[in-house]
Amino acid sequence: MVVDEKWNKKLKDFLKRYYQDDVLELANSYPDKRSLSVNFDKLEIFDRDIARDLIENPESVVQSLGAALKDMDLPLMKKLDSAHVRVTNIPNRIPIRDLRSKHLSKFVAVEGMIRRATEVRPRIMKAAFKCMRCDTITFVEQPGNKLDEPFSGCENENCGKRGPFKLVTEQSEFIDSQKGQIQESPESLKGGSNPQSIEINFADDLTGQISPGDRVIVNGILRSVPRALRDGKSTSYDLILEANSIERLDQEYDELDITAEEEEQILALSQDPEIYDKIVASIAPTIYGNEHVKRALMYQLFSGIVKQFPDGTRTRGDIHVILVGDPGVAKSQLLRYIVKLSPRGVFASGKSASASGLTAAAVRDELGDGRWTIEGGAFVMADMGIAAVDEMDKMRDEDKSSLHEAMEQQTISIAKAGIIATLKSRCAVLGAANPVYGRFNRYESLADQIDMPPALLSRFDLIFVLLDVPESTLDGKIAAHVIQTHYAGELLQHKNNISSSGITQEFIDDQMVNIIPEIDPELLRKYVAYSRRNIYPIMDEDARLHLTDFYTSLRKQGEGKNNTPVPVTARQLEALIRLAEASARVRLSNRVTLKDAVRTTDITMECLKNVGIDPSTGMMDADIIATGISQSQRGKIQIILDIIRTISDRSPGGKAPKKEVYAEAEKSGISAEEMDVNIDQISRRGDIIKPDPEHLKLVRR
Ligand code: ADP
Ligand code: MG
Repeated sequence: MVVDEKWNKKLKDFLKRYYQDDVLELANSYPDKRSLSVNFDKLEIFDRDIARDLIENPESVVQSLGAALKDMDLPLMKKLDSAHVRVTNIPNRIPIRDLRSKHLSKFVAVEGMIRRATEVRPRIMKAAFKCMRCDTITFVEQPGNKLDEPFSGCENENCGKRGPFKLVTEQSEFIDSQKGQIQESPESLKGGSNPQSIEINFADDLTGQISPGDRVIVNGILRSVPRALRDGKSTSYDLILEANSIERLDQEYDELDITAEEEEQILALSQDPEIYDKIVASIAPTIYGNEHVKRALMYQLFSGIVKQFPDGTRTRGDIHVILVGDPGVAKSQLLRYIVKLSPRGVFASGKSASASGLTAAAVRDELGDGRWTIEGGAFVMADMGIAAVDEMDKMRDEDKSSLHEAMEQQTISIAKAGIIATLKSRCAVLGAANPVYGRFNRYESLADQIDMPPALLSRFDLIFVLLDVPESTLDGKIAAHVIQTHYAGELLQHKNNISSSGITQEFIDDQMVNIIPEIDPELLRKYVAYSRRNIYPIMDEDARLHLTDFYTSLRKQGEGKNNTPVPVTARQLEALIRLAEASARVRLSNRVTLKDAVRTTDITMECLKNVGIDPSTGMMDADIIATGISQSQRGKIQIILDIIRTISDRSPGGKAPKKEVYAEAEKSGISAEEMDVNIDQISRRGDIIKPDPEHLKLVRR
């Protein structure tokens, strides 16, 4: 490679003027440190032509920069022979999906998340070949994937034989190398399209710096490599980025640009006394009802505060939510909407097909040419965002076991094949789970039904149980809402596709009024990002007292019950705190007030009612969490089943007359209304059927 001399003198001046101190510092720690970082902006101020040339002909200009660095006058006769100049802040930022052949050999900046990274291994740069006949060493540069032998034979003029050669590793030059794969970050994806990715080569001191889940900008030269075919080289090429420098993006939601005008809108919105309702109304407006779930999702979007303590411990701010329930109650729809709304959302299914699954894996694949590659799964890719995981009940066992760590410590560790790595997964989890047996069953334990260990379940801050109970007024409303939604959609499609339709936009807008979000989703995303970036609320004293009281009173109700796991643990207390902080963040307030605390306990009660409070006594009942059914209710169901069994034994065809069953139950103190409810539930569970309105029949005897 010929170094272009054109800029050499100028580049030396440039380094002297702007980087004199940095170069001295580098000389001090050389060769432990081997890189000088140069900001493109400074180069551009210094000389626009060179800056332009750097983008267009990076190979030669970077080499010239390196040569200039080696030429610098340094004290102690130090020579920076194998130092690199790394240029950051390259303005030629190209989205991964837009990389084309015109970008080949240009300096480009690519932004995204590291999805996979191989182990760091040496790569031969200059191979020393010893001629087996005359012992002369011939050096051969190794640019490609395959080891090249001396092309024109032994260097010794008197020999000149074409082999055999022996590779002498001690005299060859090696460099550390690592391959990685960078993928578009979730927030840059519009409308749930598939993320695209590109391979990156890291060399020398750039190796070992990145791991899956890192958000980075990689500046480098775009290269193409022919696809390897078994017999020879293919004419199709793959893109590969040869990294020159890495910039880290660690700030939360850095990537979302908020203009001054938008900031004004956001601040105005935050003053709206109805901001809570407005945001709730902006979450999945096509889904009717489910207000308390949407409210929880709002808190999850805003999230509590991450805390670092002096002793090095860290508590999470992320609020984990799980929706458990019957099929067809819009769980998946809600998940998808949140992924769209969250500044950083990743959607995954428990049945994930990729090797890394939800967490991470070490695999051998083509990226590493047989080396081990660490690949990050959904939880890693959702770092600093929300991971929505549908069908959690179908998660792989490996994922289930690493989920404990992912949800509490917010890291994922891999120890396999000598690789020990810890990846970050600082994300909120929004899970959805269907009951394993099709429909949700009130009598059985929640944990069993969604095939998830109770220990894992208890890591969720809020658990919602969504039942699909036929109920005519609500059903009517949902039906009206769904039909209206589709009708409005039909109108819009009709107008868009049939030019002579004659449907006016005003009419459509009018029909859409219920399903247009109060706050535009794009603005809401920015609102959330703004809040998470700028708001760090502190809790008022009365708010603290309220939460303490609530917690201790819940604990009290668990007192005196033997052998039942107390459902309310200190973990719930932390959940309360996070929710209260999130509530303050919703209105961009730096104070957690009593009102926030009350909002928190309200929504917590809403959830506990579903999972941990006996509806017939209003008391906390640990049995509900453990078995899914309260003690008093279980007793009643047993009595009712016994009555039906006794009566049907003496009845023709095993059909017990309903009247007799009710009369018998009355004697045991179970009222007719209670009977209606219980019979309904038992028949939904499939234990009894109603052959006709007047009779009940046991399915199993
Ligand atoms: P799940 O994941 O709970 O099985 P889905 O999210 O797939 O259910 O929802 C099934 C369908 O029912 C969706 O098209 C959804 O829009 C509709 N649906 C269910 N409940 C409602 C509701 N409350 N309002 C509007 N649509 C609903
Ligand atoms: Mg679903």
